[in-house]
Amino acid sequence: MAEQAMFTGGGEFQRELKRRVAAELTPERVRRGKWEISLKGVILVTWAVGSYLALLLLSHGWKTALPLAISLGLAVAGVAFSIGHDANHGSLSRNKRVNRVLGWTYDLIGASSYVWRTKHNHAHHSYTNVVGADNDIDQMPLARFAPEQPRRWFHRWQHVYMWAMYGLYSIKHHLAGDVRGVTGGSFGEGSPLRRPRGSELAVFLTGKVAFFTWALLLPMLLHTWWHVLLFFGLASWVLGFTLATVFQLAHCVDEAQFSSVDELRSGEPKNWAVHQVETTVDFATGNRLLSWYLGGLNFQVEHHLFPKVCHVHYPRLLQVVRETCAEFGVSHSTHPSVHAALASHARWLRRMGRPEPVIA
Ligand SMILES: [Zn+2]
Repeated sequence: MAEQAMFTGGGEFQRELKRRVAAELTPERVRRGKWEISLKGVILVTWAVGSYLALLLLSHGWKTALPLAISLGLAVAGVAFSIGHDANHGSLSRNKRVNRVLGWTYDLIGASSYVWRTKHNHAHHSYTNVVGADNDIDQMPLARFAPEQPRRWFHRWQHVYMWAMYGLYSIKHHLAGDVRGVTGGSFGEGSPLRRPRGSELAVFLTGKVAFFTWALLLPMLLHTWWHVLLFFGLASWVLGFTLATVFQLAHCVDEAQFSSVDELRSGEPKNWAVHQVETTVDFATGNRLLSWYLGGLNFQVEHHLFPKVCHVHYPRLLQVVRETCAEFGVSHSTHPSVHAALASHARWLRRMGRPEPVIA
């Protein structure tokens, strides 16, 4: 299997991390975490459903529709960060079925949970920042995110145009991305996707029908069709921009390392846990409101090491992970603020877009 050739699991570093994290997650803290995530789920779903109903039934004119569409986009992103992402990792509940059902929130908001589990849980989490295996960094030819990717002349301006493109991330998922995913069969080296069958296919199709019904069809029964398209586009753009930017700030920044399938295969297998820390960067971990909204995705190092732990525990894991990294000589990076992380991502885009210096 490709994974075994590139990485080794276990090792003293990972064993020590697991031991210390297990000691942190006492039954009492896990119980409190369950209450915390349940309350959070209720708040986020109320925000999303409230924004949608207000946009559908109460808005007349752009002055009310504009803020409501933005609010809907942000609320749906919050649901995706805190509920869909955790549930599809299997970290919301000990019960597999509960996670699977809550994972369908992705299908309800337009992105197939079936495709996501292969694309994100396997391709991205197993092979983070590995060109040829991590689908998240493969946006060629539109953008060059890694030194191992070929540079095109227009990448010179990618630090300008990619911000607008991030807004199209969710629309791409709703349509072409998911359909290509289930028919195309692969998300890169080591991540084949078999066509969904039986209940998986039923969830995929029901999700698409449900999404387009609430997002487009129902509003078109009450409002002018082009108004609906306009505000659907705006809410989708806000959603896509928020999701894509948050994921980019964790891996496409100048402190993160990149490699390729060929490079990893040509040398000694790398320790998987060390690779996760070196390819991922935390940001704004002291900002409690932002951490709440982002579903712990600003604690990406901790998430990549412990994807099966619910995100409400990540602030507690941070200190443990930092100390263990320091003891084992593994470099753990954090940007102190969102601004610092955004600036680092912009610098990285610019650097990847520049022509390579000619070394004589
Ligand atoms: Zn994840």
